[in-house]
Amino acid sequence: MSEFDHTPLIVFGGTFDPVHIGHLQAVTRLCESLNATNVIWLPVGEPPHRSSPIASTQHRVAMLRLAIAAQPLFTIDAREINRVGPSYSILTLSELRAEHPHRTLCLAVGLDAALNLPSWHRWEEIFDLAGVAVMHRPGWTFPNPLPDWWRQRETGDGVMPLPGSTGWIKSVAVPPVDVSSADIRLDLAKKKSVEMKVPLAIAQYIREHQLYE
Ligand code: ATP
Repeated sequence: MSEFDHTPLIVFGGTFDPVHIGHLQAVTRLCESLNATNVIWLPVGEPPHRSSPIASTQHRVAMLRLAIAAQPLFTIDAREINRVGPSYSILTLSELRAEHPHRTLCLAVGLDAALNLPSWHRWEEIFDLAGVAVMHRPGWTFPNPLPDWWRQRETGDGVMPLPGSTGWIKSVAVPPVDVSSADIRLDLAKKKSVEMKVPLAIAQYIREHQLYE
């Protein structure tokens, strides 16, 4: 019997500006696929790969809190927000690895983010610490053939990563939800309703705090 807890710990980073149903449905499906229950949501503070968020950190976290309120095993980890300087995933994963020595860490990314992985700081070291689950996303297609770095690590259909293993990539089909935070911000700037794109409590929060107008 392995000393590892058999259910992976999902680590899901994002700007969440704002969090939307695409994030929620993708992660829920990913949990089903990997038999996972615990998800650490990691809102980024100063994203190294993109421009700064529009909503304040406090609002982004408050919306995330509302979004996961019904899921006791989903938690928010604010370390990337509190870190001074760029918040690189490799630093967070090193810390999480030390804090959860008996868990299989699984970094969850959408396909758009996965395609950019080689531009991340010390990206290859991520595979020494964790596996990576790539969630399908409308508007993005898997490269054919996959680049070598990806093909060598891809687990293949139906193969579950072994407890404690790192270095794998698992592509996971999730419900195609064609929603992005950028669309939502654009809709709100045009005074369009976003109630089909975010949970109701978040639509209310956005309205109440007049975000993204
Ligand atoms: P923006 O439009 O501002 O770039 P976004 O909608 O891509 O934001 P992020 O917070 O940047 O949201 O995304 C966090 C993670 O969630 C990324 O790995 C991204 O690929 C993934 N993701 C976002 N939306 C979806 C979706 N609809 N389906 C699958 N994955 C998604």
